[in-house]
Amino acid sequence: MNAMVLERQQSPLMMRGVTRPAPGPDQVLIRVLACGVCRTDLHIVDGDLTDPKLPLILGHQIVGRIEAFGDRADKRPTNLSEHGSGEHGSGSDLAAGLHVGDRVGVPWLGGVCGDCFYCNNGSENLCDDAVFTGYQVDGGFAEYAVADARFCFPVPSTYSDVEAAPLLCAGLIGYRSLRMAEPVLTGIGRKARLGLYGFGAAAHIVAQIAIHRDIDVFAFVSPGDRAAADFAVSFGAAWAGPSTDQAPVELDAAIIFAPVGSLIPASLRSVRKGGRVVCAGIHMSDIPAFPYHLLWGERMICSVANLTRRDGVEFFDVAPKVPVETTVTEFALEDANHALEKLRSGDLDGAAVLRIPE
Ligand SMILES: [Zn+2]
Ligand SMILES: [Zn+2]
Repeated sequence: MNAMVLERQQSPLMMRGVTRPAPGPDQVLIRVLACGVCRTDLHIVDGDLTDPKLPLILGHQIVGRIEAFGDRADKRPTNLSEHGSGEHGSGSDLAAGLHVGDRVGVPWLGGVCGDCFYCNNGSENLCDDAVFTGYQVDGGFAEYAVADARFCFPVPSTYSDVEAAPLLCAGLIGYRSLRMAEPVLTGIGRKARLGLYGFGAAAHIVAQIAIHRDIDVFAFVSPGDRAAADFAVSFGAAWAGPSTDQAPVELDAAIIFAPVGSLIPASLRSVRKGGRVVCAGIHMSDIPAFPYHLLWGERMICSVANLTRRDGVEFFDVAPKVPVETTVTEFALEDANHALEKLRSGDLDGAAVLRIPE
């Protein structure tokens, strides 16, 4: 099969003919139809994230059709509730009833140990031995991929392959970030105000869910990026402006998607007492020193790491109801390097997606 392969970090992906993977006992073989391109892919290529499997096929926003099951994968999956793997209960029926030909999505979380402190306490996203798709195991910048059946999501039929791909990371991580901010956004006696720093793939999805929940969205973009500000307003942002500006009103919470540490003090300046700043990225440049009074007043800073399967179940229930629409720019598989460069330069509206026709 054809795959775009990372042979070493800090070098471009190479188109290679590689052996089509065979599904392991718990896995499904998937014909990849689309795969989203995420900033995390860029961090892996650049070496910001260390020790990837090498050579590596990147890509953790896979949409594809099941072609085959491993020996154990077509049985009813492990009952996760025994291990407390979802914060809100069991994710056990996720892959139940999957058949050859079904369309599924494969996210960043590719597997967990099921038995560590975190797995036993409803935080499988923090599992000590988690494996991540397109990082420790090969991902979807290829014609075929294998994935643990218990970590695949059925994809809502209202989305095309390409439209669905960004839901698998941008959507899921964005949704988890919004949930982290939720305690300071609800029940406050007026319309809540949410700042989004970096208006790309994740923010354009979160904005739609937030607006659907009657939250005012304030979009912060790179200074001078008029196109990004216009893009945010087109999604219903109440205000869009440069990230160096303070919000026109006090915010209840801010979610930072851009990998820029200086946005933490910048966003704290706009967040009210008791408010929250949620850092959604897997990597950020160093956070500059800032005066304590920005944090004072019970403001909180937290990060969001990975996802649980329960996040996926909830998000794929919510997304078609909003309905979340995704803006995507399509690239061919062999143009993956070009897609990564577009993401790096910010020269994209919405999400970059590789389309891999059958
Ligand atoms: Zn991602
Ligand atoms: Zn674990």
